[in-house]
Amino acid sequence: MDPNYNPQDIEAKWQKRWAEEKLFATEAEPGRPKYYVLEMLPYPSGDIHMGHVRNYSIGDALARYMGMKGFNILHPIGWDAFGLPAENAAIKHQRHPSEFTFSYIDRMRGQLQRLGVSYDWRREIATCVPEYYRWNQWFFLKMYERGLAYRKQSRVNWCPQCETVLANEQVVDGCCWRHEDTPVIERDLEQWFLKITDYAEQLLDDMKQMVRWPERVLTMQQNWIGKSVGTLVDFTVDDLWKPLRIFTTRVDTIFGCTAVFLAPDHPLVEMLLANSKEPTRLRAEVERIKFSSIQARVEADLAKVGADTGFTARNPYNGESVPIWLANFVLMEYGTGAIMAVPAHDERDYEFCTGYGLPVRTVIVPEGAAANAEANAPLHAMVDYGRLVDSGPYTGLKSEEAIVRMTRDAEANGFGKGTVQYRIKDWGISRQRYWGTPIPMIYCETDGIVPVPENQLPVVLPPDVKLTGQGRSPLANVPEFVNTTCPKCGKPARRETDTMDTFMDSSWYFYRYTDPTIATAPINKEAVKYWFPVDQYIGGIEHAILHLIYMRFFTKVMRDIGLVDFDEPVARLFTQGMVIKDGSKMSKSKGNVVDPTQLFAKYGADTTRLYILFAAPPENDLEWSDSGVEGAFRFLGRVYRMVAKHADKLQGVGAGNLTAQERASLTPEERRLVRKAHQTLRRVTEDMEERWHFNTDISDAMKLVNELTDFDAAAEAGTIRPAILKTALEFLVTILSLFAPHVADELWEGLGHSEPLLKASWPAFDAELAAEDELEYPVQINGKLRARIQVAASAGEEEVRAKALADEKVIQHLAGLRVVKVIVVPQKLVSIVAR
Ligand SMILES: [Zn+2]
Ligand SMILES: [Zn+2]
Repeated sequence: MDPNYNPQDIEAKWQKRWAEEKLFATEAEPGRPKYYVLEMLPYPSGDIHMGHVRNYSIGDALARYMGMKGFNILHPIGWDAFGLPAENAAIKHQRHPSEFTFSYIDRMRGQLQRLGVSYDWRREIATCVPEYYRWNQWFFLKMYERGLAYRKQSRVNWCPQCETVLANEQVVDGCCWRHEDTPVIERDLEQWFLKITDYAEQLLDDMKQMVRWPERVLTMQQNWIGKSVGTLVDFTVDDLWKPLRIFTTRVDTIFGCTAVFLAPDHPLVEMLLANSKEPTRLRAEVERIKFSSIQARVEADLAKVGADTGFTARNPYNGESVPIWLANFVLMEYGTGAIMAVPAHDERDYEFCTGYGLPVRTVIVPEGAAANAEANAPLHAMVDYGRLVDSGPYTGLKSEEAIVRMTRDAEANGFGKGTVQYRIKDWGISRQRYWGTPIPMIYCETDGIVPVPENQLPVVLPPDVKLTGQGRSPLANVPEFVNTTCPKCGKPARRETDTMDTFMDSSWYFYRYTDPTIATAPINKEAVKYWFPVDQYIGGIEHAILHLIYMRFFTKVMRDIGLVDFDEPVARLFTQGMVIKDGSKMSKSKGNVVDPTQLFAKYGADTTRLYILFAAPPENDLEWSDSGVEGAFRFLGRVYRMVAKHADKLQGVGAGNLTAQERASLTPEERRLVRKAHQTLRRVTEDMEERWHFNTDISDAMKLVNELTDFDAAAEAGTIRPAILKTALEFLVTILSLFAPHVADELWEGLGHSEPLLKASWPAFDAELAAEDELEYPVQINGKLRARIQVAASAGEEEVRAKALADEKVIQHLAGLRVVKVIVVPQKLVSIVAR
């Protein structure tokens, strides 16, 4: 072997070999156990970044490990290729978005291949081609048939710069996430929605099946879905005789209600304005609260502001009239857009009411407390359940009983009812953009909304379009696209010109990998049956709510239309941490980006991968260190030179399991080396099965390298048998192949193997060989450490006890005392009690 480590040559050589041998190409093999490793598909932004490198290095380590364990591996990659950035670049440079997209894909594909990830490139997909997005349209039509896709007027966040609708998550400090100094405005638009709310209960319920998802992600999804069981209660607006319906989860506190809060865009507001004695003041207040409410939507800690409308509403439980206020934190989209204010028993109401001088009235006291409703105004809201006081006929009841009784009474008296509310809203998918999937709908003057017949799919994006970044949907400016004929009556009609949210594309892409070219259906049921569920999905925590909820919703719809026969697509989820440099996430705008391709050129892909897995546990954030990269490079050089030095003479030597005779005849030195090798293998194997602390796996490998270096002289002098040395080196190289696969294959070949490591099996550790010969026990006398003893690892409790009592130091300390008790904690310590 070449005595010097030359990563550029080694990596080029193995990438070529892997491609020629189609090492990563897999097919379904019914009957053979499979493992589907999936990393979130990247947006083709032009260059891979360190976050990608981390994501894919984690996935690759797992794919290679499971591959060597004998599983049939599916490890695909593709491109989330529609979206705003390419369109914005196209507007800027007056070129077509597809030019940018495909050139970026080519560049990033090259970079991923240079990284040497074990992808089956034959399965690559791009979501922006009609062969793919026609199935988005097909899914849309299926949902429309089932009443799951519908159109409604809705109020949206609108960025005047992007000229598009923004999701709440895209509004930062009241401004656009891309245009930090452009305040978001509100607009009313006709939009297409998918009825994800129909699945809210299932999305919650099926979390029971997601036992291998991070608790944190499940909690975030639960909060996003936001189920609350409560009561609808109809107040009556005084003088106007108009019902005002509020939603509360705590009807037991309603005798403590001292105001009603309205969302500023509540439909009743117009009526209040029309009847107000001071309409000018009220109009101004409404506008002020409206503006503040846009901000409050996205900032939980924004100051609570409100305004008195001058009207009152009557509480049907006690007939009392309370003032109606506008409040910036009450959202029209949640509940009924109106809530009762119970400052004594809700923190937010407390903050608001004490700030505005509204009364605070206690109606719940802790269980067992003196029932003294005349108590002074509390300093905080008492939000717990307790016993009702000063609550008319319900006084004395426990909260739980009161909620049931009071809800029942509301129903009986016709002023309310029990209900379940969700925070999650239907998924608005309309985008006034070009670079997305056209929504397959037609508007006819006679027939209204008419779906495009399935056999006319795909509705293809017209290639010639002028993108200006101004005004309405770009497709509306393409007459050849817009003007069509009605499928029903054949008369001239107009196409929908909005395109779909790109989250549609990523909601089912991972099914397509199992048969990426199937043209007759979105997915190949047989292939899906074999490969699903995804065994391991890996990506950033930032996708916890949107993508990871939408893909679950899609799977349930696919199940209901008979495409799949399971509820959940992903068995296990892993969320990796961010890559940080100089205290913040690497980003172009912060100027703290380390370009992976420069590292490939300087150190090689193996060093980059090894470093990124060594620098931190994969779920933690990773603080970048240039000297750490240097260290990883030096380590690989050291391993390379050490193995290369022995490789030639070990080529023809057999390795692997020791015979009984070899086992019996191990010299102490050999025993030590064998033990260390099996211990390292054991630790890495156990870790790969559960925790993925690649950083400790790599440091274990480093310790093994140190150990092997200590044996160098003995190995060269021939006092260690070659087969034993070779086994230890092979363990090391096999472990290394998870993190630095190119150099590992080079060394594996140097040790005499003709096929890449992925075709070898992961070696089994031998627990007996890995066991320590002796264990050290600290010995305490009356709680004080007095001695340390060495005992054979196989020794029983009795033997440990005897050895402790026979120890010279122990005997000295026991002089003149009587031993009362000896406690042996196996493998831990001996504790002696003496008087
Ligand atoms: Zn914007
Ligand atoms: Zn028609």
